[in-house]
Amino acid sequence: MIHLKTEEEIAIMAEGGAILRGVTDELAGKAVEGMRLKELDALAKKLMEEAGGVPAFLGYKPAWAKKAYMASICASVNDVVVHGVPNAYKLKQGDVVKLDLGLKYKGFYTDTAITVAIGTVSDEAKRLMAVTEDALTLAIDECQAGNAVGDIGFAINAYVRKHGMRVVQGLTGHGIGQRLHEDPVVYNEGKPGMGARLEPGMVIAIEPMVTTGSGLVKELADESFATKEGALAAHFEHTVAITENGPIILTK
Ligand code: MG
Repeated sequence: MIHLKTEEEIAIMAEGGAILRGVTDELAGKAVEGMRLKELDALAKKLMEEAGGVPAFLGYKPAWAKKAYMASICASVNDVVVHGVPNAYKLKQGDVVKLDLGLKYKGFYTDTAITVAIGTVSDEAKRLMAVTEDALTLAIDECQAGNAVGDIGFAINAYVRKHGMRVVQGLTGHGIGQRLHEDPVVYNEGKPGMGARLEPGMVIAIEPMVTTGSGLVKELADESFATKEGALAAHFEHTVAITENGPIILTK
């Protein structure tokens, strides 16, 4: 069931989203060679709490997970796509790290992700990151009332394929609001006009996950997902509200 939000609720989510953006940008600046993932995690928790929010992922147990998540952010390096657990790993030159952050603020969740290059990365990594971020922008352009969820997925997948890359299979975006994961499922591929209709008051987290590999993933021991063949992956995500006047990016 899709929970539509009132203008007041969207305004609260925009407040939370602005806080989350600030935390994410600060983290991105700290993601440099020699930084440990768990240090980034601790910093994110501190910044979120100082701002009056709660790290959304800490203690969260989604339906698909065997156990509750025990960190505040996800930090996924190179071939790890999402749900990487921030451990003692030290970032090094050439790494591509995906930082995925969720915030609960005044009863509402927002969710965002970025991919950060550590020092000088390969041209392939640069291209992958640019294609993934551009796919998210194109997807947000589709967030017009009357369009369908399938239009979003189609826009992402068509763009990614045009650049010789693949969206990661089996991982999706989602509705978001008083719960971190709500309906509808927001696929990174789809057919134009198919699926749930977008209407004013819907808020969705759109999150293209793209790889230079086949798109197949495997689950690792920490319940993170990595590309099957070890290929690089990138991930960008925004929380977006559908309104009469077009999309509003709440995590901008
Ligand atoms: Mg998400």
